[in-house]
Amino acid sequence: MDSRLAESREEALLDGFTQTIDGIGQESASSFDVIDPSTGRPFARSPDATREQLDAAVAAAVRAQRTWGVIPVKERRESLLAFAGSLRENREPLALLLVREQGKPMFLALDEIERSVAALEAISSMVLASEVLVDDAVDRIEVHYKPLGVVAAITPWNVPLFLAVTKIAQALLVGNTIVVKPSPFTPLTTLELGRLARDVLPAGVLNVIAGRDPLGNWMTDHADIAKVSFTGSVRTGKHVMASASATLKRLTLELGGNDAAIVLPDVDPEAIADSLFWAAFYNCGQTCMAIKRLYVHDAVYEEMCAALARRARELPVGRGTQPGVRMGPVQNRMQFDRVCDVLRDTRTLPGARILAGGAARDGDGYFIEPTIVADVVEGCRLVDEETFGPVLPVIRFFDVEDVVERANASRMGLGASVWTQDEARGMAIALRLEAGTVWVNRHLNADVRVPFGGVKESGVGREFGLAGLKGYTEPCVVSLRKSR
Ligand code: NAD
Repeated sequence: MDSRLAESREEALLDGFTQTIDGIGQESASSFDVIDPSTGRPFARSPDATREQLDAAVAAAVRAQRTWGVIPVKERRESLLAFAGSLRENREPLALLLVREQGKPMFLALDEIERSVAALEAISSMVLASEVLVDDAVDRIEVHYKPLGVVAAITPWNVPLFLAVTKIAQALLVGNTIVVKPSPFTPLTTLELGRLARDVLPAGVLNVIAGRDPLGNWMTDHADIAKVSFTGSVRTGKHVMASASATLKRLTLELGGNDAAIVLPDVDPEAIADSLFWAAFYNCGQTCMAIKRLYVHDAVYEEMCAALARRARELPVGRGTQPGVRMGPVQNRMQFDRVCDVLRDTRTLPGARILAGGAARDGDGYFIEPTIVADVVEGCRLVDEETFGPVLPVIRFFDVEDVVERANASRMGLGASVWTQDEARGMAIALRLEAGTVWVNRHLNADVRVPFGGVKESGVGREFGLAGLKGYTEPCVVSLRKSR
């Protein structure tokens, strides 16, 4: 794949990507363009699944689950580890493809693949054992965690490979089979994932189909799908929940965030500036749990702003394939237009100071300068909405009680963080923040051994950890009355 990718820069569109249905590669009657966000031009074609292909994928998954769901977990684990090995072997071409379709720099693409491999290995080693709830003279009551059947995984475009792999690993380990649908903006690495799985997983266990948004809706509507694991925006998450209600599907919804980070006056701004900066600008700010509202105490405000602005001005931005680049373009035109709109709105705010960036870059591609905005407050789009781009508002505060209230005054609640030298105080404030994860002196850490998810409109249920695995199962109670 490498040489074709390198050659395809401005020439013929890459094609030949196939879906995986019942262990077999399948094209589709129609296809759609995949855009390279660093040029704004198509570089490949993706198959566009028909409804019949979705039905075939689900039927194959139903058939395969009858065996996959009852073989010993050890065998499923071995298959998943073989899958991890195959990903590792194909790390370079997968990373190159990810750079082309997603826009992220090569070092981040390689990191996403390495984290995917590590996640497959870590999840495979997890044990979801049955539990004995009561065992006395009269009763023995156990709970067993049974597979649900067929899981539908629907993923967004920001970290397409990692999100697909982690859903696959959790669903398959506990005995489900799966049909995966990537975002139409980034379908290719997930299609490749399906292709690699054909050699290591039994037919029908992992199916990958690609298509535009209606395909997602067909999946959430499908009578033979037992659960939807969805990662994406709050707006689409609400559609998914409504659509899944017709068949009362189990749901995990990992949705948007507008994470607040609170910097207390006792910090050394320069010492934490790198961590804060990368927690906001990693993946061009397109991370659900990125810092999106940075609250800084007045005592360290100017110093903190200056340290962040310097980093933003010095950040090498460019095409992900260029050496040395640390931030790529925004992933798609729609998102680019949205971030530009937020910037336009920000420029009209009285008192707002743009300390770095503030505009899109001239030329091809969806590039936006890393932007730091000081002296903004709630009540504007930049602070109240999830921008999902390389723009960080830095908001001044004077009083901790007040800032906790402001941080919590959001309909979202994915992550949050507190930054202080006083760890006990940091932990105490953390408990008061309304979020699925609150970090102290860090932000953005994800660990597949630890449950992750949002409160309020940031989601329903959890991925990862035992809580996540349980979400891919149905508890079954077995209750015995002992003979005397
Ligand atoms: P999106 O909601 O537009 O799309 C996500 C997926 O849903 C895509 O595959 C899309 O094709 C599909 N889809 C669209 N309409 C559908 C419908 N009616 N029914 C079923 N599926 C449908 O999101 P996006 O723009 O791709 O991703 C960005 C969003 O994802 C951000 O809000 C971000 O915060 C969120 N996100 C959350 C997490 C998390 O773990 N909480 C992780 C990554 C991204």
